[in-house]
Order: sequence, then structure tokens, then C-alpha cells
Amino acid sequence: MPSASAAPIAIMWFRNDLRIADNPALNASVKWAQQNNGIVLPVFILDRVIDAQLGGATRWWLEKTLTRLDESLATVAGKKAPCLRVFRSDARDVFNQLQTDHKIGALFWNRLYDKASIARDTDIKSSLRDQNIECESFNGQLLYEPWEVKTGAGTDFKVFSPFWRACLKLPPPAEPKKAPESIPLGDLQLSDETDIAGLDLSPKPFDWATGFADRFTPGEQGAMDQLHDFIDGRLSDYADLRDRPDHRVTSELSPHLRFGEISPRQVWHAANHYADAHPGQGKTASKFMAELGWREFAHHILFHARDLKSVPLQGQFTDFPWDDDPKALERWQRGQTGFPIVDAGMRELWHTGYMHNRVRMIVGSVLVKHLLIHWREGLAWFDDTLVDACPANNPFSWQWIGGCGADAAPYFRIFNPVLQGEKFDPDGRYVRQWVPELADMPAQYIHKPWEASPLILKAAGVDLGQSYPEPLIGVKEGRERALAAYQDMKRAA
Ligand code: FAD
Repeated sequence: MPSASAAPIAIMWFRNDLRIADNPALNASVKWAQQNNGIVLPVFILDRVIDAQLGGATRWWLEKTLTRLDESLATVAGKKAPCLRVFRSDARDVFNQLQTDHKIGALFWNRLYDKASIARDTDIKSSLRDQNIECESFNGQLLYEPWEVKTGAGTDFKVFSPFWRACLKLPPPAEPKKAPESIPLGDLQLSDETDIAGLDLSPKPFDWATGFADRFTPGEQGAMDQLHDFIDGRLSDYADLRDRPDHRVTSELSPHLRFGEISPRQVWHAANHYADAHPGQGKTASKFMAELGWREFAHHILFHARDLKSVPLQGQFTDFPWDDDPKALERWQRGQTGFPIVDAGMRELWHTGYMHNRVRMIVGSVLVKHLLIHWREGLAWFDDTLVDACPANNPFSWQWIGGCGADAAPYFRIFNPVLQGEKFDPDGRYVRQWVPELADMPAQYIHKPWEASPLILKAAGVDLGQSYPEPLIGVKEGRERALAAYQDMKRAA
């Protein structure tokens, strides 16, 4: 039986805010502990809600970032790791047990915006407040709370541009706060505690994630390094080249933002300071900040939607005549569709846990339009394989791709994967990197090897149907089939 703590306890409940700088709930915990001569108890709880939001790639990331957070807490507290207290349990049970064993003075956290997290947090807040425990939540994940951004009529937004204009009219996001200079931690003995390894997050049954670490460094320091590399090196080219997967100019901050290793305020202010310091570069900084706006919009929609993961925002798509084709789905997942830009993207995803935004749009479009496979299948695969798979951005984007989401491109606007490849990867550099069996194809045919003559194919070492697949469906045929399905849905509605 653990002995009760003599010092009053403020619990800092970490979730998707795995950083110590600009963390309002952590700052509140430290302040409370200082004012009450108490200690901070930093906890992470892998409960059913968080578990259900993790896929293989995000589990890999979470294990690494929790370890980095633990080290940062130890450094600031001047103690030896482990300092982060870890549980695999129901969150309410953990707090009840802590209350029984040690008496809790206060509980602080940063808010989440999906329905399951809100229901859990509301329940915990009311239960703890009934026991006279101070309980406060903060905004640590967004620039603006979803309920702060309203149309003139006081309703929520359904279209991005007016949403972002309304955000820009609000006072700018607060300047980010530094990490606390010290954190008073105790040495409490806790019941039912595990450690980070005990969360069993490593990929199973085999470690396919070895390539992730070549691309990313999970943790707060990795996030800050990534931000500075981007601002100092690539932001100047962002507006012109952000759609080019062969150039890699985007920030690649998405997994860091997903886990809250960096706050959107830190990113927003870094871009804003850059714009102030480089008067001719306002356009590129604004373009980048507008992408943070899309992240805000996705959270706004998540907060207001009934069930973003399953229910199309545009009801007429409920009865869309999707095709059930497990073989085509598997070829899409494995990067064997026969469309080079799609296969490059799907293989980049598998090897690095990441895919460029333009390529996400192309692979998504081919899945839901040319192959007529339900967007929920794409969502599920991305949820499992993306290191940035996020409860807001992923379902929001898949609904957008499926034509049934908020401010979505109409379903009948169908990307041509050949023209997209030629436009955004003109020399085929991206395809050559990820589809090495096409590395020697001339640029003219790299996005449509089926149009090359037998002589050209032979010279490039390509045996279509053997060394590289024939396309799953003709570009034109797929487009016509998708348009026919769309008409069927409209007729049935
Ligand atoms: P940058 O261009 O540097 O943008 C900066 C930040 O803005 C990103 O890190 C991200 O947080 C946000 N952002 C950028 N583009 C978008 C966008 N279109 N929608 C919402 N936020 C955006 N993003 C995720 O973070 N998680 C997901 O699970 C996810 N799933 C997607 C699924 C599909 C089908 C599509 C088309 C897009 C998805 N996106 C997702 C959005 C976008 O592709 C990624 O955020 C972006 O590619 C991340 O790269 P970056 O950090 O270099 O972006």
C-alpha cells in the first residue's frame, strides 16, 4: 500500500501535448504546486480512448516521444528519469486510485476535440470537482478554440476561406511561453503503475518502422530542430514549391504537431517573425500559415461533426455505390497499382510513415474515384501507417477527397494520375526514388510506362506486367466509371 504524500499534489495529465515549452496545463500545474507548497505529478495514461486513436506508426512515434518527454522532465526537475508516471488503464480509475492513496489537490490538462475525449474529460472534470478537487483545462493544441470562430450568424463554418478570414480577424495567437525553469516533482509510490516499455507500443509482429527514424526525430527537440531548419532553409520556397514532392520544401512538422511536441502557436509565431524580418516574403509565410489554418479548420469540423470518421458530412454520399474489391485495395496499399505516382506515394508511406500532401491527394483520388473503393478504407490504412495520423486531419481529409466532406472538391472533379504526375514530378525524380524498377524510364514515359514502345521498355529494363504492374484500370475508363457511380447516387437521392 503506497504511503500518502505529505505535499499537496497537482497532476499534469499529458495527452497530445507531449512537450514542456508553451504548455499551459504544465505551467498551471507548476504554479499551483509553488503556491501550495506542493509537487507536480506528471502522468500519461494509455486508456481506451487514446488506444483507439493509435495505429502502428503512431504507436512507434508515441513510444519515442514519451521517452524524450520523460528525459526533458528529468532535466528540468533536476532528477533522474523516469519522472513521467505511466499507466495503462481507464483514466478515471487512475485518478480515483490516486485520490484514495494520496489525495489529489488539482488536475490540469490541455483540451482535445474529438467526441470520445470530450465525453471522458467532461465526466472526469465533474467527478473531481464534486470531490472539491481543482480541475482546469486549457488550449494547448490549437490557435483558436473551435467555439471562438463563428460566422456572422453565430454558427460554425463549413467553408475554409471564410473560416480562415474570421480567424485572422481575431486577436493573434498569444506569444508562446518558455518551459518552466524548474518543476517540483515528488517520489511517490503509485499503485498499478507501468513504464513506457510496459505500454507495449513497438511495432508487431515485425518492425517495419526502421525507415521512420531516418526521416524523423520524435520529441520536442526534434520538433524545434525541424521548425528552425524549415524557417531558415525552406520557407522562402514554400509558396512556389509546396506542391512538388520531388523538392521536399514543406515543414514535415505534422507528426510533431499531432503529438503536441510543438504547439501551433510556436509554429505560427516563428513564421510571423520570419515575415516581419523578410518584408518581401510575406506571401510565402501567409501561405504556410494558411496550412496551419487547414489544421484549425479540420479540428473545427471534428468538434462540430457527429462522427467524422464514419458519417459523410454530405448525407447524399451515405448510399454511394462503392465497390468492394479487396485485391485492388491490397495493390493500392502495397504500391502496386501500376500508376507510378500512386505507387511512389504508397511506398514512401510504408517506408517513412509519411507522404507528401499533393501525393496524398492523388493516391486518395485514385482510390475513391478510379477504384471506387470507400474512403473509409483509405482512412483506415492511413490511420495505421502515417506517423501524423490524426483524429481531425485524417478523417477530414478523406472526406474531402471523397467529395463528401466540408468544402470538398466536388466528386466529379477527378484527378488524372498521369497529368498530376507530369505536373508535380516533371522529371520523375520522386517516382524514380520510390519505384526503382522504373528508374531508367525516360521522363516522357515515367508516369505512363504503358504508352512506351517495347523497345523503350526493354532499354529501361521494364517488363510491364512482370517487373512493374499494368495499371489496375485505364485512366479514362476509371474516370467514366466513377462519374457513372456519381450519377447513380444522384438519381437514387
Ligand atoms: P506543411 O505544408 O508544412 O504544413 C504545415 C502544417 O499545416 C502541417 O504540419 C499540418 O499540421 C497542417 N496542414 C498542412 N496541410 C494540411 C491539410 N491539407 N489539412 C490539414 N492540415 C494541414 N495531416 C495530418 O497532420 N494528419 C493526417 O492524418 C493527415 N491525413 C491526410 C489524409 C489525406 C487523404 C490528405 C489529402 C491529407 C492529409 N493530411 C493529414 C494533411 C496534409 O497532407 C499533411 O498535414 C501534410 O502533408 C503534412 O506535411 P507538412 O507538415 O510538411 O505540411
